[in-house]
Amino acid sequence: MKFGGTSVGDAACIRRAAEIVVDAANDSSLVVVVSAMSGVTNQLIVAAQQAATGNQHDWDDLPVSLREQHFAAAQTLVVNESRRSELVAELDQITSEVANLCRGVSLLRELTPRAHATISSIGERLSARLMAATLCELGLDSVVVEATEIVITDDQYLQAEPLMAQVRERCKERLRPLLNDRVIPIVTGFIGATVDGILTTLGRGGSDYSATTLGGALDADEIFIWTDVDGVLTADPRLVPTARLLHEISYNEAAELAYFGAKVLHPKTLRPVVAAQIPVWIRNSFAPEKDGTRITSIGHPTRVGVRAITAITNVSMITIGGRGIVGVVGVAAKTFQAVANVRANVLLISQSSSENDICLVVDSADAPQTLKALRDAFEKDLVHHDVEHITLKSDIAIVAVVGEKMRGTPGIAGRTFSALGRAGINIIAIAQGSSEYNVSFVVESGAMRDAVVAIHDEFKLHERVAQASGAPD
Ligand code: ASP
Ligand code: MG
Repeated sequence: MKFGGTSVGDAACIRRAAEIVVDAANDSSLVVVVSAMSGVTNQLIVAAQQAATGNQHDWDDLPVSLREQHFAAAQTLVVNESRRSELVAELDQITSEVANLCRGVSLLRELTPRAHATISSIGERLSARLMAATLCELGLDSVVVEATEIVITDDQYLQAEPLMAQVRERCKERLRPLLNDRVIPIVTGFIGATVDGILTTLGRGGSDYSATTLGGALDADEIFIWTDVDGVLTADPRLVPTARLLHEISYNEAAELAYFGAKVLHPKTLRPVVAAQIPVWIRNSFAPEKDGTRITSIGHPTRVGVRAITAITNVSMITIGGRGIVGVVGVAAKTFQAVANVRANVLLISQSSSENDICLVVDSADAPQTLKALRDAFEKDLVHHDVEHITLKSDIAIVAVVGEKMRGTPGIAGRTFSALGRAGINIIAIAQGSSEYNVSFVVESGAMRDAVVAIHDEFKLHERVAQASGAPD
């Protein structure tokens, strides 16, 4: 079970989360993964960046406020005197590490990726202690296990990839014995370490990925991601008020939705569980009585067609175009090599068959360096007018229509684009992967909401369909 930042946001939330664990511990053995209390990771990162400017007063409040916040939760959650003083001593020690680390960064005036990872991981180390102590208070046996001992990763310190074979070994050595003794391990989410023991992080929001990595390594029966929403919906309810909970979706559908900005899961979350077909649940820790969404390999057994719509903003479209590129071999290769060199994440690619344009969409944060890399790569061609322009458009959004069983269902693209036509929405670019799990297109950001609503209506996603299979729709 993994509890996200809001699910451990304060003492009352931690207590609620702990009760969920107590319930589950009755009839199964489990490992718990926690995020930092909500907001803490952001504060740590800001402090680390400020420390790098060399100005102590910008960050020296943070260790103090973190200590207060976590002490306050400890006071409420832990009544047993000796347990509480032990907990408080640990929290104290960890928060003073923040001060030391920031001091080091500020002396050097340099924030290396390693220092960045170490500072940003403090929140999980604190919240894990609170959770373990609370479970002990509730009569369970529970200990903190540092992810650095078990989640072995490569050395991309801020976007580390777990090395599954080694994680498996470590889990066998470190977690299995605890489970056999009916002790509940509380593992710090988000964090890993290289084989040499240097701390890494799995990227922002990475504790989902921690949970599935450990679940996969332990051959778990099920994985529960406890968060602050009921599950995965047909669309963002802020865009579409009639959006509805989906009870069962497939790994592919969930991955497409995560990739295209539905903020329920970290995009890499499902990778470690697909092969072993471990079901992943998204559940609401504030309403544990609700069913949530179950993510499996087949998804809903009978429902076909479009299941959900998602949209992302803060993206930019880069177009490389001009008559000069028609028929020129290697333009695409050169384009994507340049993009890869700056490690920009490409969200969508489209090329028309006339080959007049190649367009690609990247995160707006990556856009300036991507544009520069492309202009550099095509410098000679631009001079010779083989490529006539490389342009950037930032006021756009990607809308993606997602469904595992859209594959082989004719007419979906037709209905999608007719609905957009009727709503008077102009489509700037279109892409469909050959997997057919999604059709995505680019619109002006001002038209995004109308586009999502129009398609949601067209496919009547607000309606539950009676299922002959009896499976919840
Ligand atoms: N605390 C980390 C973050 O805010 C990891 C997570 O929440 O999953 O990014
Ligand atoms: Mg989080």
